[in-house]
This record gives sequence, structure tokens and C-alpha cells, in this order.
Amino acid sequence: MQGANLKTYHYFAAGRWHEPASGHWIDSENPATGEVWARIPDCNEEDVHRAVKAARCCYDEGTWGRMQAAERGRLLTRIGDVIAKNAERLGEVETRDNGKLPKNITPSLKSWQTESFYYYAGMCDKFEGSLLPTEVPDMLNYLRWEPFGVCALITAWNSPLGVLICKLAPALAAGNAVVIKPSEHASASTLELMAVLEEADLPDGLLNVVTGFGKTTGESLVDHPEVRMVSFTGGIPGGRAAAQAAARQVKPVVMELGGKSPQIVLEDADMHLAINGIVGGIFPATGQSCISGSRILVQRNQLETLSERLVKVATRAKVGDPQDPSTQVGPIANRPHYEKVNRDIENALADGASLLLDGRGKGPDKGYYIGPTIFTGVTNEATLAQEEIFGPVVVVIPYDDEDEALRIANDTIYGLAAGIWTRDVNKAIRMADQIQAGTVYINNYFNAATQSPVGGFKQSGYGRENGFEGMRCFMQAKSVWLATNPDQPDPFPE
Ligand code: NAD
Repeated sequence: MQGANLKTYHYFAAGRWHEPASGHWIDSENPATGEVWARIPDCNEEDVHRAVKAARCCYDEGTWGRMQAAERGRLLTRIGDVIAKNAERLGEVETRDNGKLPKNITPSLKSWQTESFYYYAGMCDKFEGSLLPTEVPDMLNYLRWEPFGVCALITAWNSPLGVLICKLAPALAAGNAVVIKPSEHASASTLELMAVLEEADLPDGLLNVVTGFGKTTGESLVDHPEVRMVSFTGGIPGGRAAAQAAARQVKPVVMELGGKSPQIVLEDADMHLAINGIVGGIFPATGQSCISGSRILVQRNQLETLSERLVKVATRAKVGDPQDPSTQVGPIANRPHYEKVNRDIENALADGASLLLDGRGKGPDKGYYIGPTIFTGVTNEATLAQEEIFGPVVVVIPYDDEDEALRIANDTIYGLAAGIWTRDVNKAIRMADQIQAGTVYINNYFNAATQSPVGGFKQSGYGRENGFEGMRCFMQAKSVWLATNPDQPDPFPE
């Protein structure tokens, strides 16, 4: 159904708004109601070229490429200030576009996402090169860290601004200009960010946003010869295609992909803490977080009691419209994904899994709602336990001893995050060492900080975001050799 006040967005390049060259637009639905509320440009190669050219000009010919690091830091601070000031407006648009609860957007924009710009602002003039102690005589050899020039930032629909800011702050701090490609399912908050940043007085062409589909707009962007680095967040199929496109011109890529993260509950765990942590580690974000803990591994003799307690807590979740302050679990972010999650649930049932809690049919009639859903009765080999659903669906799997728990935890193509629940800290540390994942939580889940690098092992990706590592990914090393002795040997003496 078409909303009454359809909002039309334009794409952003060279400091100005543009209509798509194709004249085509993509509808954006509000998943809380199923109504189309906005349309975004379907950008083609011509639009992508305009955006990349603007970024290149900004880097090569504008003030940006010559800006002192400390000045760059002040610019990042201004961006942080503007985001904090406009957090409500940005959060409101994001909620309408992807159904995420306001309480999961606005406070983060005001706190750690703003802080992320301040953190990297401070790093601009502290990211030092070095003098290298080589054994080559009469030479000064030093290392410089340089930007790539133009970077492509490709983001997913689950947390458009959160995902973007993890890339944008370090990419700019490193001295790059950027072209952003948000998801075709949720581009509005990213475009709205460009609108609010007009008051930050940024150089034209520093930030550019093209919108459209992955296979067309996204791949044109990755393929553009002036884009020299790609930072991608999304699923494995899209990431693989983007990496293949980047490989054609040998471009470095950072890949932040999906997960099927285990929550290992050891026999001695504080069960109250574990249950709250497990439920909180997936359902409040409707399971649409890359690090959602979707496989619950439990000692066989505790399977029944833990499952019952999980169901009891998860059943209490109030599924509803994200605009209603009492809502605890919002909708699935878009129709195709809603259909996929429903299909995954049906397939799991057809494969023989037992439903302990069925979230289908929960929430309002209009819109794309599925409440907390809990399965058991399958082994870790089942599709339900192996493939990312990216929805409010968990599977509880028993293990017989801790070695088996570790084996099951690692028996997946993914390696994004893992949780361990136990009162025995030494055991937790030993297990954490053996878990194949980029982040391990012990007796907590879901924490993140700008200072702390995140990223994947195995097919969950490579490269890191946040911290020093996050900035280094947007830079390339240059080694400079300077002869200190003017008498260089003649290679071909007479
Ligand atoms: P997706 O891979 O379908 O799309 C992600 C982005 O890539 C979109 O902007 C899309 O248009 C673009 N894209 C797709 N194919 C492309 C191609 N061939 N070339 C260039 N760009 C292309 O993923 P999604 O459905 O938007 O997001 C869900 C996935 O994202 C889940 O798997 C989730 O786990 C993952 N995710 C990971 C993290 C992380 O930090 N690891 C964070 C959020 C989401």
C-alpha cells in the first residue's frame, strides 16, 4: 500500500543532491505497517561515476588531500557533534525505514557512535609512522601510513547508521574520501545523515552516497577503477561477489559478514545470568544482528530445565510496533527477509526440529512480525544449526562434555562471536582460547566499544573495524629510503 506522504530521496555527490540518471526509483516500505513511505534512487553506472569522480576530485584537487592531520581531527569532531545533535531525527527515520526500536538507535547515536568520531578524531594526529632499524648502511628508511584515496563503504540494512559509522570515522581519519552504498532495503537514514551533515561544513565530494541494488549499483562501485579499497558489511553471497569484483583490479577488501554464534552454557553457570544474557543476545534486535547468539549449547542433563527457562523469559517479550514505547521486539526489517525467516522456520519443521516456542502470528496483523522462536531436537549438522537465519530464531543443542561443546561451537563455516557462561573463570579463559571467533564474551553478550576491534574468523570475514586495527585497514604502508651517504657505489666500474 502507498503511504499518503511519499518522501522522495535523491542521491548525494559532490556536495549536491541528484536525481538518478535512469529516472528509476526503489520503493522503501515501513516494515511496521507494510506501507511504502519513501522512494530512493536506483543509481546506475553514470551516477556511480559522478560520485566516485567527486570523491577523487576532493582527494586530489580539493583541500582534503592537503589537510593537516590535526585539522582533519577537528572536522571529525564536528561530524560527531552534528550526529549527536540530530540523533532523534536520524533515529526516527531509521525506525520508519527498517523497524529497529528507537531505544536501540538514538542512545547509541548519542553515545558510542558519536564517540567513535571523537576517538578517531584524536587518532588523526597520533597515528605515527616510524624509522626502521634496517641493516643497510648509510640509509634512512622510514615508514609512512597513507590513505588509499577513494574507498567504497557498502552497508547492510539491519543497522544502517551503526554499520556505516564503524567504517566512516576511521576511513575519514585515515584521510580518504568515500562513496557510500547503503542497502536497497534501508537507505533513508544514510541519506538523511548527508542532509544533517550539511551544517558540518565538509568539503564537497568528501562524502557521497549512491543508492540501488547490490548487483548493479554496488558492483559498479566496487568495479570503478578510481575506488582503491572496499569495506563491505553484509551476507556471504554478496560479500563473495563483491570480493570477486574487487579482485579484478586487485583491490583490498574488508569483509564483515554473517554469523551463527554459539552460546555455551557450562554446567556450573549462573543460570539466571545465562538465560537473561542469551535471550538479550538475540531477541531484542529481532535476531537481526550479525553477532546474535543463535545456537545455545547446553549440558545434556540441563537441556530440559534450561529450555523451559528460556521459553519462559522469551514468551514475555512484547512484540509490536517500534513506535510504541512498550514494544520490546520490533518487526523483521523488510518483506523479502520476513518471507525468508518464515521459510527457514518451515524448513526446520520439515527437517524434524521441535518447536518449543513459535513466534509466528505474534504482533500486529499489518507489518512483518515474528516473535522469539525456540527450536530443539536437531543436531548441529542440521541446516537450522548451520545456516544464518538472521531472525529471532534459536536452536538449543545438547552436549555431553566440554570438549564436545567446543567441537560443536567451532563446527560451522562462521566465526564471528561466541558466548561462554560459567562461574569458573580459568575454564572460560581456556575455552575462549580455543574458540574460533573474532569476539568471545564470558558471562556477558553483545558489548561493543569503539576501542575494541571486531571482525570475523573463517567465512565471517576478514579485516577489523574499531580500534587501531579499524584505522589501519583504511591505510597503506609506504617505505621510503633516503641515502645519507652521497657516495653510492658505481654499479659498472670501468
Ligand atoms: P547483503 O549481502 O545482501 O547486502 C549488503 C550490502 O551489499 C547491500 O548494500 C547490498 O546492496 C550490497 N551488495 C550485495 N551484493 C553486492 C555485490 N555483488 N557487489 C557490491 N555490493 C553488493 O546483506 P544484507 O542482507 O543487507 O545484510 C544481512 C547480512 O549482513 C547478514 O548476513 C548479517 O550477519 C550481515 N551483517 C554483518 C555485520 C558484521 O559486522 N559482521 C553487521 C551487520 C550485518
